[in-house]
Amino acid sequence: MDRSVYSSPPLSRVVVSGGTHGNELAGVCLVREWLRGDSAPCLERSSFTAQPLLSNPRATEQSVRYVSADLNRCFKTHTLSAPPSPSDPYELVRARELDSLLGPKGSEGAVDFICDLHNTTANMGACLILYSLSDYFCLHILHYLQTRMQSAPVYCVVFDEPPSEAYSLDTIGKRGMALEVGPLPHSLVRADILSQMSEGVKLILDFIDLFNRGTVFPPCEVEVYRKLEGLDFPRDPQSGELSGTVHPERQDRDFRGLTTVLGPWGPLTSS
Ligand SMILES: [Zn+2]
Repeated sequence: MDRSVYSSPPLSRVVVSGGTHGNELAGVCLVREWLRGDSAPCLERSSFTAQPLLSNPRATEQSVRYVSADLNRCFKTHTLSAPPSPSDPYELVRARELDSLLGPKGSEGAVDFICDLHNTTANMGACLILYSLSDYFCLHILHYLQTRMQSAPVYCVVFDEPPSEAYSLDTIGKRGMALEVGPLPHSLVRADILSQMSEGVKLILDFIDLFNRGTVFPPCEVEVYRKLEGLDFPRDPQSGELSGTVHPERQDRDFRGLTTVLGPWGPLTSS
């Protein structure tokens, strides 16, 4: 059992992004509101002010997931560092722009933290998506949300990939996570999902502020989900068309599988 104290410097450059997928509208709405300044104080804390960012403006304008390629699959190190070509899809060009703005990925110049906002049609509650089983900072955030969030259950999926292979926008910061909230149909907004996402962002920023101001977060353990395998729908072997649906007894029963317990590990504080 690892009980050492984890400490790191305070975080000052914090970004909250939305519209990485242009048809996931709760994140888009929040970021647009912050950019207009209507509720900008939501991003202000005593130790930092988070910057709002609309990550895929063209897809957001058209209310589609992406225009030419999935932006949130363009942030592997080798994808970002491949030589640019005139035939590169819009999203790859935009990924490089974002990497020079917020990264470069893996560098000392990268922003301290990126929270990327997503919605899903799945009955997912509020779910943090992480890439490391030993990212104690983000796992402490998970514990903070799980013990305080009022409007939705909080889950976590950990993919456990090396940083260079992690493909999503939040991986170009020194630290980051996706906050995925659902169920929400594509290109629609629901007030309850918007409130859940707002509360999630508020608590994440509150946590960072407490951390920056020297709070010692005590040892804790959390339950997370890990990907064991991918399971496609049954398909017609000739045409590839779907030949089945999710069984009614399984439909919407997300997060009913086996979990992995992480921790307890030592306390966390800023240095
Ligand atoms: Zn998304």
